[in-house]
Amino acid sequence: MKKTKVLITGAGGFIGHHLVKFLQNKGYWVRGVDIKKPEYEKTTAEDFKLLDLRTREKALKAVTGVDEVYNLAANMGGIGFIETHKAEIVHDNILINMHMLEASRLARVKKFLFTSSACIYPGYKQKSADVAPLKEEDAYPADAEDGYGWEKLYTERACRHYMEDYGLRTYSVRFHNIYGPLGTYDGGREKSPAAICRKISLAKTVDEIEVWGDGLQTRSYCYIDDCIEGLYRLMQSGFHEPLNLGTDRLVTINELVDIVAGIAGKKINKRYDLAKPQGVRGRNSDNTLLRQVLKWEPQVSLEAGLKRTYEWIKEQLTKQG
Ligand code: NAD
Repeated sequence: MKKTKVLITGAGGFIGHHLVKFLQNKGYWVRGVDIKKPEYEKTTAEDFKLLDLRTREKALKAVTGVDEVYNLAANMGGIGFIETHKAEIVHDNILINMHMLEASRLARVKKFLFTSSACIYPGYKQKSADVAPLKEEDAYPADAEDGYGWEKLYTERACRHYMEDYGLRTYSVRFHNIYGPLGTYDGGREKSPAAICRKISLAKTVDEIEVWGDGLQTRSYCYIDDCIEGLYRLMQSGFHEPLNLGTDRLVTINELVDIVAGIAGKKINKRYDLAKPQGVRGRNSDNTLLRQVLKWEPQVSLEAGLKRTYEWIKEQLTKQG
């Protein structure tokens, strides 16, 4: 039987690289596209092209001959990066997303998935650490995270327009803090779980690490395997509105540090740097719609996911010497 051909943009990145392997295991033929190769292990994609998707010509080349597109490519990083590179982020990502949508339409792609973010939710709904979980409809009236969040929200709308006006079957998923092995853990683009695992791995048996903010800000975290499973399930569904994908277990950054310290078997004290960016005060995912649409919800506990992540980061740091 002829294999369905999929394109994964951002296949050199964290989620894209995991997705390549997952879809191949499901029997798909996979083309990966990125401006860089995966950093920590070789790609297994049948075809891997180095292309800068900020141009129309490269986007057209990327979609040639594929049936489905998972558009993950983005210039992004943790809070330290997105708060200090707004112009670069909106410039690059709007170009990537518009060219990829238009190229997919012209190539008569059957399905197009866009990876949005919990950063699209309004600031006024995230002012306290014990926030109510965010439902999809809470996105409006809009007051997204300035820069990255607005770009994601705008592209969600562009997906809807391409579906309504041209019949391109689009899907938009709002990720809530995805973490796991093979994710960036240093260099300035890393997110909180990876940064905390790195700091604790480098710490002595009894030590102190720096925490951004007062540690009482809250988030929910989703392990990479659950993220990939959720993405796949969404692409098999007939649901075309934006959908949350995350867990609904709210933890403080302090709790995150304590869990990782427990995994490492170290006694870690916290030194708070209130000058560092913290993002919103609290953010959680309401998974009512996710359960209904996907007939499933994330399965991996924070403790189990962090253990795998910590072990992987420790191994990388040991290799670096
Ligand atoms: P990542 O940074 O590891 O992967 C993104 C990839 O896109 C990188 O490999 C990068 O080189 C590539 N890219 C950037 N500019 C490009 C260009 N001009 N042309 C081609 N490729 C380009 O990030 P990730 O964590 O794997 O995120 C994947 C997607 O999910 C992104 O769209 C991101 O915004 C979204 N997302 C991720 C999270 C998370 O917690 N990781 C949360 C919300 C949304």
